[in-house]
Amino acid sequence: MQPSRKTFQQKGKWVERHTKTEILLCACGGKYLKTRVDQVQCVRCMTKSRI
Ligand SMILES: [Zn+2]
Repeated sequence: MQPSRKTFQQKGKWVERHTKTEILLCACGGKYLKTRVDQVQCVRCMTKSRI
């Protein structure tokens, strides 16, 4: 993984322009890649809330 040069915070979300992949900040404090349109939390929290 290369260090992202153009990472900045926008509206409380971490957006990486280099790859167009959104790195969002979860409520638990962890960062996650937005892989779904309606994704609002990290995979760990998603799994936790489903069980
Ligand atoms: Zn989380």
